[in-house]
Order: sequence, then structure tokens, then C-alpha cells
Amino acid sequence: SDHDPRGSSTRGWALQQAAAEVLPGGVNSATRYVGHPYAFGGGDGAYVVDLDGNRYLDYHAAFGAILLGHNSPVVDDPVRAAVGTLDLFGLGVTELEVELATRVIEAIPSAEMMIATMSGSEATAQAVRLARAATGRQLLVKFQGGFHGWHDAVARNVISRPELAYGHDPLSAGILDTALESTLIAEFNDLDSVRALFEQFPERIAAVIMEPIPHNVGALVPTQEFVDGLRALTSEHGSLLIFDEVITGFRHALGGYQEICGVRPDLTTFGKGMANGYPIGGLAGPRSLMERFDGQKGDVLLAGTFNGYAIGATAAIATIDHLRANPDFYTRTHALGERMRSGLASIVAELGLEATVAGFGGVFSLYFAAGPIRGYRDLMRNDDQAYAGFHRRMTDKGFLMIPMSLKRNHVSGSHTEEDVDRTLDAARDVLAGMKAD
Ligand code: PMP
Repeated sequence: SDHDPRGSSTRGWALQQAAAEVLPGGVNSATRYVGHPYAFGGGDGAYVVDLDGNRYLDYHAAFGAILLGHNSPVVDDPVRAAVGTLDLFGLGVTELEVELATRVIEAIPSAEMMIATMSGSEATAQAVRLARAATGRQLLVKFQGGFHGWHDAVARNVISRPELAYGHDPLSAGILDTALESTLIAEFNDLDSVRALFEQFPERIAAVIMEPIPHNVGALVPTQEFVDGLRALTSEHGSLLIFDEVITGFRHALGGYQEICGVRPDLTTFGKGMANGYPIGGLAGPRSLMERFDGQKGDVLLAGTFNGYAIGATAAIATIDHLRANPDFYTRTHALGERMRSGLASIVAELGLEATVAGFGGVFSLYFAAGPIRGYRDLMRNDDQAYAGFHRRMTDKGFLMIPMSLKRNHVSGSHTEEDVDRTLDAARDVLAGMKAD
């Protein structure tokens, strides 16, 4: 078809072959290789264009880093203006860093102070280290299917059918045994599984880290009882609650998922969408905890040559300012997400498929498993092959979705109702075709 990026005579294919010689696996991040020689040359709003000139309506959105749309002038214009003045000084502070922290603190209910990092992984690494320092404890609880970056402290992953998520348990070779042993795994939306760990390891758990909605396995929306229960359990046991809002932050609400569920975590991490495609991450929390990063009074190392650099800070400020000035971003993306989810659910029902539509706000996922899907355990029934077929056929029609069966798709600030309706028409064709095969 017009959109098939796999043709062996394409520029994309040629680039992938050249890439395979100089980059391991031909990519700079392993999840970018999905058996297709994707090679993009540009993007504009809700669309991306590959090197052969094919346009795709983009729901992958760089794993959610694109929030407003590709190459948004809202962000790119101030970035252009910053280039050429504030490169890097390595001493003191810039006005931009104070402006950024001020905005984050105003937006995030639990934030009193903030540090800027270069990525989400750095933010979660700092959060875990701070939690260990503050509690004097070593153990960390994370949830099956949750992803918090590539570093050792969060490298222990699923305990069953790991092939559904990242392919390894741990998710990499070369991880310290002590790091793996220090990470305990609980089941999302199952408070008893967390309670059991607190009983098994009294006064040893430094923190519970969670994606408030585990979007790394699609969208497991927490029950209110679960998030309230986690807040109570962690407080009762002297542990910290860390919300990893790298995906949910700024995307679902200006104040992140904590604004929506009303639970105040001790620490919050950010990244991805907060700067609409420019690298930056952050960690926020109460003054009492964050002051441990103070180089004079504190005891937790805060270092990073590029932390708070001008381009990332400028992009984040522009993104946050846009979201503050346009709260309809949230009503619009939530309505479009809902339109997509209800449309997909109708198609699934019409065709009598064993599939479940999930999501929140502008995020949607299609699981090839019967519902209800509450926790990771339910996702073990997912038919990965069926998703792969769905994904490939949607790509061929010009709709770029996330290739991994348990991840998620994103409606950005640039998608329209018409985009969603065209997507639903294509999905109906694809799913009916798959059923017929
Ligand atoms: N936390 C979550 C919830 C994420 O989804 C990711 C990235 N997928 C990270 C942390 C790590 O962020 P980064 O890739 O910027 O290091």
C-alpha cells in the first residue's frame, strides 16, 4: 500500500540498513525497532512523514513526549529565540530555572520544591535515592508492568510472562543482584499484595513507586480505594509514596493524576510531554525532603552538567504556559479520547471480538483480551499476535499506533474529531478484515 514502510526500495529501508552498521540494532533505544524499518523525516501537528513522503496520523507521539503536536510553534518559537544566548554556564542559576520550578510548584498539588533532570529515568533514579536517604531503608516496591526508566533500581520487572512487556526479567543483563533483590513486585489494583509486602518486610521498605495509571501496559486505571489505600499504607509504615507521572503529568491534567485522584504523593517525577518533545525531566516534593539535595545542608547528591539547561527549560515553560492559558486542551483531548474509546468499543461489540478498550483522558489502548482488565494479571490473556496484526494493518493505512501490544496511544492537542472518525473507519475495516481471515 501507499503507507507500507517496508518496501525494500524505499529510502527508509536504505537508512535502516546503514543504521544497522553503526547503531546496535539500528536504533538508539531498543523499543524503536519493531520489525519495520521506520525512518521519519518530519512532523507537523498530528502528523508525521517518513523519508519516502508517506504521511501518518500519529498516535505514537514519541511514547507520549509529544503533547501539543509535532513541531508546535507554541514551543518551537521560544526555543528558537533562546538558542544563541543561554547555552550553558555551569555556575549559579538562570532565570529560566526559577521560572520553571515556580510553574511546576504552582501546577502540582504536592510540590513545594523541584529539581530539573534531563530525562524521566534520571528523575526516578533521584526519587528512589532520596527515598532511601530519607527513610534509611533499602527496599522499593513497584508494580508488575510498571516502567520507571532504564536504571538498576527499577530494573526488576514482571514476575510472570515477561514476554508480554519487556522481554526480560530483569529487563536488562548487567544489573546488580542487590538492586534486583531490593525491588519487590506487587500487583496493581490489589492492595492486599502491597500489604503483604509491608508485613513480610517490616520497617524495610523505603518507598512504593507507581505510575498512577500504568500506561506502560496500556491503561490500568486505579480504583479510588487502591490509591487511597496506598497513601494510608505507606504513611502508616513510614514509607514514601512516589507517583511517577512521567506519562500522566501535564497530559491528563495540569496537576497530573494526583490532581484528579486527590491523593498527595510524597514525591512526583515528570518527563516526556512536559516540554513537547524536548528532553527534560523533574522531581518535585515537599521542602523537607527536597532540601536533602541542598549542596550545603543536605546529604543527597544533586549533579548533572545539563540539569536545567535553557532549551529544555524554555520548552517546558512554554508548554506549561500554553496548558495554563488553554484549559480547553484537557476538555478537548479528553473528549477526543472518549470518542475514540467509545467508537472502538462499538466496533468490538459489533464484530463480537474478544477485545477490551481501555484508556484515560486522551490515551487509549486496545487489548485483545476479554475484560474486565483491572491489573497486570488480567493482561496475561492478551493476544499479542492479534495486536501485531492490528498495528501493521493500521500502519499500512496511514495510522501510526504504538507497536507494542500492551502500551498505549495518545491523542495530542493537534488531533481533530475528523481525525478520530477517520481512524475509527480504518479500525473498523482492519478489525473486520482480521475477523474474516
Ligand atoms: N517513567 C515512566 C512512567 C515512563 O514511561 C518512562 C519512559 N517510558 C520513564 C519513567 C523513563 O523516562 P525516560 O525515557 O525519559 O528516561
